Amino acid sequence: MAHGHMIPTVEMAKLFASRGVKTTFITFPGLAEPIQKARDSGTDIGLSIIKFPPEGSGLPDHIVSTDQVTEDLVPNFVKALYLIQESVEKLIQELSPTCLVADMFFPWTVDAAAKFGIPRLVFHGTSYLSLCASDKMKRHEPFKNVSSDSEPFVLPDLPHQLEFVRTQVADFDLMENENDFSRLIQKTRESDWRSYGVVVNSFYELEPDYADHYRKVLGRKAWNIGPLWLCNDGDEAKAERGKKSSIDAHECLAWLDSKKPNSVVYVCFGSMSDFSPFQLHEIAGGLEAAGHDFVWVIRKSKNEDEHKEWLPQGFADRTDNRGLIIQGWAPQVMILDHPAIGAFVTHCGWNSTLEGVCAGVPMVTWPLFAEQFFNEKLVTGVLRIGAPVGNKKFQRVGSEGVPGEALAKAVQLVMAGESASEMRSRAKYYKEMARKAVEEGGSSYNDLSALLEDLRSFSPPRNQHDIN
Ligand code: UDP
Repeated sequence: MAHGHMIPTVEMAKLFASRGVKTTFITFPGLAEPIQKARDSGTDIGLSIIKFPPEGSGLPDHIVSTDQVTEDLVPNFVKALYLIQESVEKLIQELSPTCLVADMFFPWTVDAAAKFGIPRLVFHGTSYLSLCASDKMKRHEPFKNVSSDSEPFVLPDLPHQLEFVRTQVADFDLMENENDFSRLIQKTRESDWRSYGVVVNSFYELEPDYADHYRKVLGRKAWNIGPLWLCNDGDEAKAERGKKSSIDAHECLAWLDSKKPNSVVYVCFGSMSDFSPFQLHEIAGGLEAAGHDFVWVIRKSKNEDEHKEWLPQGFADRTDNRGLIIQGWAPQVMILDHPAIGAFVTHCGWNSTLEGVCAGVPMVTWPLFAEQFFNEKLVTGVLRIGAPVGNKKFQRVGSEGVPGEALAKAVQLVMAGESASEMRSRAKYYKEMARKAVEEGGSSYNDLSALLEDLRSFSPPRNQHDIN
């Protein structure tokens, strides 16, 4: 129920349907539009809408996705995620499916599937590397062996030396304050282990060491079926992913058409990020100092005027022809695919990271929260297609702590010079690989065939204990 999960889940449903699988998408009022659009354009997908917020959750009626949830409503939102179990079970009874694919944030679906003797596949919407790293973080708690927040530690038993500091560790892993969200995460982990398998929005050639580690060392049954977004055909689907764009896509492309190849920096921090006004001021200063043209997407604030106050004085005039600010929602994949884009400043949400890979664009990494610090390591340390701004602080609300100069320096590193051209050519290689993976005979295509074959031959366990 967050855009970062909904967007790839919709695409997964389309992918299943494109392979002749009878697919029904279960969702909530206000979130059904992308599936409705796919149905209108002829994709054969069933659609079942269940009431949300459910009775008894205490959530205001307009809330349907996490970006609308303020801190005080988190307990109600978590409660609501559990309260829909009965409605979903009724649907399973009616539809009698072979398999239930569920987002990680519905941990009870593992019990619902077991009740009906069908496998539950879980979708986390992240990379293999982050699935492996998060397992090690939880299992070994290496952050407990350092004496200060700034002393680095390495996650044990992984294919690469992935180094972190304690302030980059998720609050639910530190477990300093147990709360509704950390308890939900705990439940998702337990239900993961009881699931039949995992579907991963990634492709083997991107992270072979971690795909192998996840399956062979951690012993998980997993299928990589991505990049899911490549299953979208046509400009309309690309322009309208997730939400309605705040800018006309053609206007945006016309602006980019006027720029030289690889000359523009695209800056966007996903659907949930929240910077302090001070940090936004620093970003503006950093972009100006880096000296390259830019497209900067800023999430709409509750108080729209707030955004005008923090811009450095004279910024708008000085960057008039150089910068395009989009306040709200951008047609991200269309922008990334434009030849003018030379670098992507990203928070390393997995969809954005994969979209950067698919576009063959080097990245400046600025992780903020969730598993983004893990994805950063994949981009900078393993694939070597990006440079970090050096954020050390896990923070979702009011993020700050990165000076504008750090942004300017990282942008310069990925935009110009020898290391930039090396990163660019590696990025182009992964772009090619991504497309090959989803073509007939490619690694993701074949993994999806293997998954479908596996499901065809699935026989239900004799009793519940076989699944548990
Ligand atoms: N996105 C977009 N326009 C925006 C912001 C985000 O199209 O202005 C899309 C982006 O392309 C990606 C998704 O929203 O598919 C964000 O997912 P991600 O995992 O990158 O980050 P999250 O929002 O979950 O933090």
